[in-house]
Parts: sequence; structure tokens; C-alpha cells
Amino acid sequence: MVVILLGPPGVGKGTQAVRLAEEVYAAHVSTGDLLRAARRDGTALGAKAQGFMDAGELVPDDLILDLVREHLKGIAPETTVLFDGFPRTTAQATGLRGVLTEAGRQVNGVVLFVAPDETLVKRLSGRRSCPDCGAVYNVFFNPPGTEDTCDRCGGALVHRADDAPDTVSRRLEVYREQTAPLVSFYEADQAPLERVPADRAVDEVYADFRAVVEGMK
Ligand code: AMP
Repeated sequence: MVVILLGPPGVGKGTQAVRLAEEVYAAHVSTGDLLRAARRDGTALGAKAQGFMDAGELVPDDLILDLVREHLKGIAPETTVLFDGFPRTTAQATGLRGVLTEAGRQVNGVVLFVAPDETLVKRLSGRRSCPDCGAVYNVFFNPPGTEDTCDRCGGALVHRADDAPDTVSRRLEVYREQTAPLVSFYEADQAPLERVPADRAVDEVYADFRAVVEGMK
């Protein structure tokens, strides 16, 4: 089964995806996490992606599709895949169809997380991420047990450079221009698209999110 998590930066897709992946043994595929890992590892992809990411712009579609195609090869065909932050353009969504067909898979559903811009800005300013395991915290709404330390793996939490206010407004603009059109793309598709209001406590959002994904099986 393949589920796409759609929604603007800061809406909580990563937090929800990490939790669901852990509880139902799914693979959480965040292209943002994969790109940050490539940067840390000093790969050619990491070097190519760096400028786009720091400016809040999208990394070119062909690089992203190659990355996803390769990554999927390491995931067993029966494992559920939760895509987080991918696809982000209509070209990626179209490319994904081909990649999934090659892998004998298809999109089973799309979850659209919805929250007002002020919530997104506030969440991004308080966000702390674990570069080691992908867990996401928020100093205001969902702090770790020990300051700056990941509860799951003990990694040192970071405030991402692209969560700085100027880059955040560009990322929200890019979302509206390039990613939001995917809502009508998938609404016109066979797969169901379900909206989950995300301007609530993490546990409340999670309860709805999990129920919606269960219904996509
Ligand atoms: P995220 O962690 O999903 O917020 O992604 C951080 C940054 O990585 C984005 O602002 C983009 O520069 C880049 N990125 C992540 N996923 C994609 C994607 N599917 N397409 C293009 N760029 C991406």
C-alpha cells in the first residue's frame, strides 16, 4: 500500500508519519530527510540539492524521482510506504506513477493535512528535528523530555536553517504555487483524498490520520 501525505511545511506531516510508521511497521519516505542525509554524507546529490534547499526552492524533479526510485528498491514490496514531502509538483506526481508501476505498486490514497498559515509559521519557528532518526519536536507544543535531545534515539536535535523566517515564507509560497495544485491532480485521480484538520493537538490529529489511512487499505 502507498499513501501520500500532502500539506504545507510545518503542518505536521513528519511528526504524524514517524508515529504511524512505527506503529504499523510502514516505511516513512521523506524526500527532505533523504536529501539532508545526502548532504551530510557529502554525496553528489547532496551537493546539487544544497543551494535549492537553503533558498527554500524545490530540488529539480529528475533528481527527486531518481532518489525515490532507488530508495524504493530497498523496501519490501509488501511494506506500506508513507510518502512525506513527495510528490511536490505535478511532474513528480506523474513520474511517481511510472516509478510505482515499475515496483508493482500504486497510490492507495492521499491525506491532505490542513492548517492556517499562522500556525505553520509558529510551528516552524519552534521546530527541532533529529538528524539521526527523523523525529520532529516543537519547543512550544511537543518538547522532548530532555532539552535538545531526541527521545527516540538520543541524537542531538537541530533547528533547521531553512526554518528561519525568510526561508519559511518562500517555502510557503512555493507550496502554494507548485504543490497545492496536486490536490486537484489527486482529486481527479482514482485514489481517495482525505482532509485531516491539523491545527489541533498531535494526538487528536493522529487519531484521525490513522483512521483515514486504515480506511485506505
Ligand atoms: P522538507 O523536509 O520536506 O520540508 O524539505 C526540505 C527541502 O528539501 C525543501 O524545501 C526542498 O528544497 C527539498 N525537497 C524535499 N522534498 C522535495 C521534493 N519532493 N521535491 C523538491 N524538493 C524537495
